[in-house]
Amino acid sequence: MYKAILFDLDNTLLDYSCSEQESLRRMLEHHQLNLLEGFQWEQFREVFAPINWMYWVERNERKLNIMQVLDYSFRDTLLQMGQDHSASTDMAGTYWRLFCSTCHVIEGTQHLLARLHGRYPMGIISNGIGEAQRSRLKTGGLEHYFDHLFVSDEIGFWKPDRQIFDRAVDTFGLRHDEVLFVGDSLQDDYHGALGAGIDFCYFNPGGSRPEDGIRPKYSIQSLSQLIALLALNNEERGEQHEIQTLY
Ligand SMILES: [Mg+2]
Repeated sequence: MYKAILFDLDNTLLDYSCSEQESLRRMLEHHQLNLLEGFQWEQFREVFAPINWMYWVERNERKLNIMQVLDYSFRDTLLQMGQDHSASTDMAGTYWRLFCSTCHVIEGTQHLLARLHGRYPMGIISNGIGEAQRSRLKTGGLEHYFDHLFVSDEIGFWKPDRQIFDRAVDTFGLRHDEVLFVGDSLQDDYHGALGAGIDFCYFNPGGSRPEDGIRPKYSIQSLSQLIALLALNNEERGEQHEIQTLY
């Protein structure tokens, strides 16, 4: 039986993509960029995505903070679109304020956390920015479900580095085989958990087939399946009582 459940946050419990798109739209409206001649939202989104990803991936090596990542991403996007980029620093501030106060959940998150709360200690291991992750959980009224948050920019290690998993397991005072980690990324979550010797549950809502050699211990397409999975896990160990209280 697992003694704690750890979750990835973005696109496992919270819908990062939805929050990002909404915050981008509202930021553009706030700065009235959507009113500029020839400005198209679809074009902005398509140009912004790879530029922002490049700065995000390179942020540690180049020692960029999140405001610089956003500032440079907006600047380069508008430059490439042939638009005025002089407000990119202000845009970064507006976007960050909006993003940190936005919370969209993945379907089933509230139900899952309410069911598990009080039965399992729970934690978050996220490759994100602590300020945003804490603020978004608070906005969504979800923060009280979690005993500990391990966010990479605060811990100093990034999934799949096993050191962030080790920190989490040590903080809970458990052995690695007593913890289940749930996440949507094979690159960061699966390989990280595997390297740390932690059982992994792959949240795979699209039902895509992993490459050969990638074998998550569990795979679920909806968060509600995790409730059944944990009940099954307990049943296998003969702990019937917990199954009854879980449902
Ligand atoms: Mg994720």
